[in-house]
Amino acid sequence: MEAMQQWVESLERRARSRLGIGRVADYIPALAEQDANRFGIAICTNQGKIYHAGEAQVPFSIQSIAKVLLLTLALRVQGDALWTRVGRNPSGMPFNSLTQLEAEGGKPRNPFINAGAIAVTDRLVGAFATPSKHLRDVARRLSGNPAIHIDDAVQASEWRHRARNAAMAYLMKAFCHLDNEVDEVLTAYFACCALSMSCVDLARAFNFLAAEGHALSLGERFIAPDLARRINSLLFTCGMYDAAGDFAYRAGLPAKSGVGGGIVAIVPGRFSVCAWSPALDERGNSVAAQYALELLADDLGRWSGIVP
Ligand code: GLU
Repeated sequence: MEAMQQWVESLERRARSRLGIGRVADYIPALAEQDANRFGIAICTNQGKIYHAGEAQVPFSIQSIAKVLLLTLALRVQGDALWTRVGRNPSGMPFNSLTQLEAEGGKPRNPFINAGAIAVTDRLVGAFATPSKHLRDVARRLSGNPAIHIDDAVQASEWRHRARNAAMAYLMKAFCHLDNEVDEVLTAYFACCALSMSCVDLARAFNFLAAEGHALSLGERFIAPDLARRINSLLFTCGMYDAAGDFAYRAGLPAKSGVGGGIVAIVPGRFSVCAWSPALDERGNSVAAQYALELLADDLGRWSGIVP
């Protein structure tokens, strides 16, 4: 067996020791039903090789990981004009906080808290007929998997339990930070969060961030190298909810997590990785997936010979 595959399997074995810690997200019934003991990990190298272990081919709800694709598409469409609508600093507050939004005049701190992603989605509602279908198609092309879909049950559940996200959207609307109708923006935002993808899909789809913007699956550059570097910087400072500093200390990698239990991380110039396990810590990050990425970073530091 290839050394790289053995390594990924050893990451899985060691990370499984953290199963049983944490709780699955329960803010919507569709996520509360997940089995906390699942675990998967997949690596996609910049040469396009995939190594995976555990339940890496099982689709799960990507949730906030969609915020990275939303941001990437909005920057492609709008360029730096996007930054008049959303900031670029860590929030230090829970991802669904309303107080900071009110205190700061309706401009969200960054694109990876809910308010920020809703503001970014607003820009896409103006640019595409059906932003969620566009985002799904981009996810399909980047991952090379035409079966990727939006989970209707998760989307419907998000809509039924939308009060807090709707409150943020209305607050932004009141501050003239949202151009489109709240319902239209929220519909698109929830559909994107409800995308269902596996660790292998996500590792493939986000490889462009490890490869200076070049997407192997497209055979071309998806974004400019400096934009990939900037998105990675935002992932590093804001990608792990209000635990971004802790995760930076533990793993030192740009990463984005979602309450479905997935975390995508980037090793620039080398590979993209996705780890998944549904049980979360109190800040909303998967316990076992974070640990897997911490182990990965430790191993990279002392054993870099194995990485292509
Ligand atoms: N769809 C979720 C929400 O808006 C995203 C949560 C997350 O993964 O952070 O509440």
